[in-house]
Amino acid sequence: MRFAPSPTGYLHIGNVHTALFNWLFARHFGGQVVLRIEDTDLTRSKAHYEDAILEDMHWLGLDWDEGVDVGGPYGPYRQTERLAIYRDVAQKLLAEGFLYECYCTAGELEEDRQRYLAQGLMPRYSGRCRTLSEKERRRFEEEGRKPALRFKVPAGEEIILQDLIRGEISFAADNIGDFIVLRSNGMPVYNFSVTVDDALMKITHIIRGDEHISNTPRQILLYRALGEEEPEFAHISMLLGSDRSKLSKRHGAASIADFRRAGFLPAALVNYLALLGWSSPTGEEVLSPAEIKAQFTLDRVAKSPAVFDLAKLRWINAQYINKLTPKELAKLARAFLPEEKRDLPKLEEVMAVLQDELEVLGDLWPRLQLFYELPEKDAHAAKILRRPETGAILTAFQEALLEGPAVMTPEEAQELLHGLPPKLGLGTGKVLRPIRAALTGAASGPELVHIIAILGREECLRRVRLA
Ligand code: GLU
Repeated sequence: MRFAPSPTGYLHIGNVHTALFNWLFARHFGGQVVLRIEDTDLTRSKAHYEDAILEDMHWLGLDWDEGVDVGGPYGPYRQTERLAIYRDVAQKLLAEGFLYECYCTAGELEEDRQRYLAQGLMPRYSGRCRTLSEKERRRFEEEGRKPALRFKVPAGEEIILQDLIRGEISFAADNIGDFIVLRSNGMPVYNFSVTVDDALMKITHIIRGDEHISNTPRQILLYRALGEEEPEFAHISMLLGSDRSKLSKRHGAASIADFRRAGFLPAALVNYLALLGWSSPTGEEVLSPAEIKAQFTLDRVAKSPAVFDLAKLRWINAQYINKLTPKELAKLARAFLPEEKRDLPKLEEVMAVLQDELEVLGDLWPRLQLFYELPEKDAHAAKILRRPETGAILTAFQEALLEGPAVMTPEEAQELLHGLPPKLGLGTGKVLRPIRAALTGAASGPELVHIIAILGREECLRRVRLA
């Protein structure tokens, strides 16, 4: 298997979805994974994108056996380091008659295109340079034109793709038109470099997005010309956003780095992405990467497009957060706190209280703040504190605190609170609301007994006095 990203941007959900399906398939069957960088678009490819892609893959836990950084028997694994290989292969195919030199200018090609369109036909190459005489060729060379190399698509042929997910798809060669494999500047086009590389790197299975289905017949023709066996192809459906249009940033599907910064856990992301188009034979949804790997086969991959659902991803992430020990969670959480808050005391206890309600780790400070400083009162809490009975309730709470120990367990805090309603002759809710408002500045939040236990007597007294 191979994952062949173009380093023209950061990894996004769609790329990783494809990479993951390749990885799961290879790892399930004990195959090799190759990471190849397709950087022939010289203006858009950037080294820092390549670095970021590798980093994100590592973070997700997707590893590879051969690739740009680790090398391997069929390297180099960066296409710009393979240009001489593409040129050699192209020269060989030219000598064997599979290619021909095309001298058409961009202007001429555009005129052809317009003519086809005007006739209501699919634009394709006219074939003008297929049959150039030696004399015409020389004239073009003298004009200083540099030829591109085009593939001679055999007329009248039917090209059959046996897709592992979609079944048989057939293409009429006559609709394809002779396509360029090497541009006049010596750079290969995608269909050529990808086929040469997949063949030379002995790739047996190609799983990729369905936007590449229309490229596949060209690649099949190239395999035949190269005398190489075709790999198996499996085209997975692209991901859709909630409005069923192609997934984009608009749907919250930002880069993997953005998900990392928002506090998603890599295993949760892997789990959720695997469920987009694949389902477990057991019907379970929360599965570790190892469990998914053990169960993953292509016959459980759907043909229909999957819809990316951020709420579902958050739910899965919450399941993973919940499975961590408070100690593990506190360790992860520190990285999501503002720099000056990284060594907060009692973080483990606080995380244990918050664990159940956390979906992501981003934005932790607003949730943690009340355990460390008194947040600004919200309007609802202010209203509660102005009620006529509040004074008596807070005084009773203060007295109970003064009688109790300086350090309390949640059970002791529970006991302390328990004594107040009978003493005041008021209902439990009525008593607890102003206490919560005084201690947290809000009308709702984590369980009061945990808050009291973590704050301790002195801090509770201070907040009550302030209220
Ligand atoms: N570099 C290509 C892409 O990112 C790879 C396509 C393929 O898998 O063949 O779309």
